[in-house]
Amino acid sequence: MTTRKKLALHWKILIGLVLGIVVGLTINSMWTESTWEGLGVGDVSSYLAGPTTAKESMVAGGPNEDAGAVAGGAKFLRNLNQFVGSLFMNGLRFIAVPIVLFSLAAGVASLNDITKVGRIGAKTVAIYLVTTAVAISIGLTAANLIDPGEGFDEGLRANLIAQQEANAATKVGNAEVQMDRDTWDVLLDIFPSNPFQAMAEGNTLQVVVVGLLLGVALTLIPKEKAKPLIAFFDGMTEVIIKIVEIVLILAPYAVFALLVDKIADLGLDLLKQLAWYSVTVVFGLALMMFVVYPGVLRMLTPVKYGRFFKAISPAQLLAFSSSSSGATMPVTMDCVEKRLGVSEDVTSFVIPVGATINMDGTALYQGVAAVFIAQMYGMDLSIGQQLTIVLTATLASIGTAAVPGVGIVMLVIVLEAVGLPLEGIAVILGVDRILDMCRTSVNVTGDCMVAAVVANSENELASADEMEARLAAEEATGLDEHPHEATADQYDGER
Ligand code: ASP
Repeated sequence: MTTRKKLALHWKILIGLVLGIVVGLTINSMWTESTWEGLGVGDVSSYLAGPTTAKESMVAGGPNEDAGAVAGGAKFLRNLNQFVGSLFMNGLRFIAVPIVLFSLAAGVASLNDITKVGRIGAKTVAIYLVTTAVAISIGLTAANLIDPGEGFDEGLRANLIAQQEANAATKVGNAEVQMDRDTWDVLLDIFPSNPFQAMAEGNTLQVVVVGLLLGVALTLIPKEKAKPLIAFFDGMTEVIIKIVEIVLILAPYAVFALLVDKIADLGLDLLKQLAWYSVTVVFGLALMMFVVYPGVLRMLTPVKYGRFFKAISPAQLLAFSSSSSGATMPVTMDCVEKRLGVSEDVTSFVIPVGATINMDGTALYQGVAAVFIAQMYGMDLSIGQQLTIVLTATLASIGTAAVPGVGIVMLVIVLEAVGLPLEGIAVILGVDRILDMCRTSVNVTGDCMVAAVVANSENELASADEMEARLAAEEATGLDEHPHEATADQYDGER
């Protein structure tokens, strides 16, 4: 008897994504049409905005009863949407800290060789820094060639600034807290004084340090004492990965919900007005993802284009829909190890560190945004200033937390360094979420690429034939006896 294979998770996510965009766009266009007014609802967005406003409108006795019911239904759906979306994001955030901690501690400890840790660490950080600098240079070049901010309408600029003033002020305020700190303090802050506080606050850079320290110390104490702890960290990593699988059940619905919410809110007119800016960012990101990374892989590893993208597409898709490379990390690790063939040792070091410090997409975006803002204000950036952007955007991207919307906060540091007006942030804020989704996919792709390069240099990258054999063996073994392998099979269900 043939059993029908279940639809693979990433196809379900893709369906959620497409449906979310379609429904979001439909709602967006309905709001601007007179349909709602025809219903007597007037400004539906006020019903959707929040309980107080809705109640106030009802009390004011404005719209008729039917219209109230329609708007009430719409509000309920919106709340439900936001609930599902937030539940999913909470689930992913729940996972992010423990997985960094356990996988790094177990990974470093199992390397069992302090020189190997140092070697892999040095290679990883060096490649991360070089690719980030390349990404910013691509962003700067694209923006200088396309000139998205040239001739930007002044009235429109003033309008956008007025609309987004409050939001932008919060972002600038957040960044200024960081900028007020001395460089020594910033460096010192990477090393936590209280590991539990670091975890509770979700300070991932500090958690990386805690994980590394635990791992290194485990290799330095007597083996019989280290063994049970390593087994514990290993076991906990498996447990967290299992929790990821559970959380991911919600992914297709959550992706739908998050996208409907964002796209319904997104001013399509705004998108048109900022079209050249958005196109420049997306063009730069596409170049990075589809040309630079595969090019580096071709030069330094035997991994072919198709194999690379086929292996990591679930992680890219999740990064796109969650806008968080930290939250995507467990899936990234799974793809890199089980589908791309990078050894566990390299994966458990390179990916957690990469998710925290390597943000090529964010850095590229910051480069484009800085040039766009300069052009919009008719300011010319000298070569020296552009070099300053390369330097500060590299640092800013390292400091960017791997959660949605932080890239634009750190942009303040870049603008400040070259003396660009901070209110420029208000102009681009409206399209930030959509660009965040794109840059996060690039951030994650960069981590995967570096993992393959480092693994290959350590002779720890499985060949394409080996991977075929492994997957075939997994399929033959079946799922039930090996529940952990369900992840790979879920993603590969269409094979
Ligand atoms: N959302 C991005 C990430 O998690 C960071 C950012 O650019 O805002 O990778």
